[in-house]
Amino acid sequence: MLTVALVGRPNVGKSTLFNRLVGRRIAIVDDMPGVTRDRRIGDARLGNLRFNVVDTAGLEEIGNPSDLNARMQAQTRTAIDDADLVLFMIDGRAGVTPTDEYFADLLRRVETPVVVVVNKCEGRAGDSGLAEAWALGLGEPLPLSAAHGDHTSDLYDVLSSHGAAHAEALEDAAAAEAEARAARRRAAAVAGAVGEAAELAAEGPREVGLDAFDDDGSDIDVDEDADDETLAAAEERAMAEIGNQKALQIAIVGRPNAGKSTLMNHLLGEDRVLTGPEAGITRDAIAVDWLHAGRRIRLIDTAGMRRKARIDDRVEKMSVDETLRAIRFAHVVIMMIDAERGLEKQDMTIARLVVDEGRALVVAVNKWDTVTNADEFMTELRRRMSHVMPQVKGVPVVTISALAGHNTDKLVDACFDIYRIWNRRVSTGKLNRWLERMTENYPPPMAHGRRLRLRYATQIKTRPPAFAVFVSQPKELPDSYVRYVVNGLRDEFDLPGVPVRVVLRTSE
Ligand code: GDP
Ligand code: GDP
Repeated sequence: MLTVALVGRPNVGKSTLFNRLVGRRIAIVDDMPGVTRDRRIGDARLGNLRFNVVDTAGLEEIGNPSDLNARMQAQTRTAIDDADLVLFMIDGRAGVTPTDEYFADLLRRVETPVVVVVNKCEGRAGDSGLAEAWALGLGEPLPLSAAHGDHTSDLYDVLSSHGAAHAEALEDAAAAEAEARAARRRAAAVAGAVGEAAELAAEGPREVGLDAFDDDGSDIDVDEDADDETLAAAEERAMAEIGNQKALQIAIVGRPNAGKSTLMNHLLGEDRVLTGPEAGITRDAIAVDWLHAGRRIRLIDTAGMRRKARIDDRVEKMSVDETLRAIRFAHVVIMMIDAERGLEKQDMTIARLVVDEGRALVVAVNKWDTVTNADEFMTELRRRMSHVMPQVKGVPVVTISALAGHNTDKLVDACFDIYRIWNRRVSTGKLNRWLERMTENYPPPMAHGRRLRLRYATQIKTRPPAFAVFVSQPKELPDSYVRYVVNGLRDEFDLPGVPVRVVLRTSE
């Protein structure tokens, strides 16, 4: 699909145009320059045209062009190179400024076609700017009023002539894609077990959410007959892929003031290359891609963090919706705890959301620089965590100082480590040898005069790991025994820190 990049200095109206094209789905516009950081990509419509639009923004507070910060510049460059068409926006009321000229200079040298858009041309307000814009040497300027919608038919013509797709063709493609996804789901439903799930006790392992993560389908392709070597190779492949071609998706969640924005800024502020965000924008989250020690990471930046970033230290209420959206977006969730406050109720709510969504969890204890009784703190934290989140026993805990950047690399490493576990595949042979030992060591109880039997187990899913266990009378198996199975699976197959799911299926 045609990708259109909006380029220009702050305040010319890029966000306004972006929002007009994308609709209400992503919307953060402000009179303050530099509010929209980094890039946003949206699914744009204009009349019956559909295309991708990228808002490059991000050129924060540049007094003069030489201040252009290198990272931002690189980012805009990438957006331009990735686009099929650049709409170079200037402010028709302000006329051409030195920064505009700087951009024009850059844009004259790129291969991507560029159209100069003179914004704020409602009425005749932009007439002089429109005349000046010819001097930029980028062809005929196009007047527009992003705020009022004037001249959008001219924009339509430009986009259409540059190959924006007409909606009908796309709808066919979308229908085909939806059908493919439905087929995959049907296949998964046959392989797994959706129905039984609800019967499991709330406290014990939860349902197997087959739809929990279907971005690339890799959660449903566990081959029951594969041997250990094949499975190990598959795990290696997944690891090589992630961080290499595919980004590890990380969300940082936690109560307000825990230090999430500080961590994000620290990570992004280091000299790491930003690469282009692609898909994956929800209303309240944008994704930022960058390379960390050569591995690709996509960090979810939520609206809460952005609000926070511009309204200095105002205490925010945690938005559960927003947190949930960020969690759903991520492979690995960093739950940030404020060491000055310890584990609080809100933290437990968040942890539960992470577990329910089946994500891999890493706990970051931030502001470690303020802690004087380190040992005591950790003992107490571990004790409380084992109470409130038994479902993710063994979750990695990394103490950090986001402000000083202390241990943040270790935190990122922990994310990659847990991702591997989240993808772990256990061979059916190993599982059943283990199951035999388990049930011998501690036989299941009797029910209706007959001993319950756990006959067979197989992994039905990864991300997170889920297992089907065939039981003679599944309804009769006590929760305590299910927990024994889950804990056994976790210990034996080294699955700490990720939700492990078990579905009981009848073997008769
Ligand atoms: P960005 O920094 O380039 O993303 O610019 P914004 O979209 O945030 O717009 C900056 C300011 O210009 C905001 O106050 C907008 O309301 C205003 N603005 C945007 N488009 C128009 C327009 O077509 N006409 C007028 N008069 N103001 C506009
Ligand atoms: P958010 O609401 O989770 O995004 O939290 P912020 O990143 O805005 O941080 C909240 C406050 O905690 C700010 O005043 C930060 O300067 C402070 N803070 C963040 N990280 C640390 C840290 O590692 N040590 C200390 N002492 N303070 C920190």
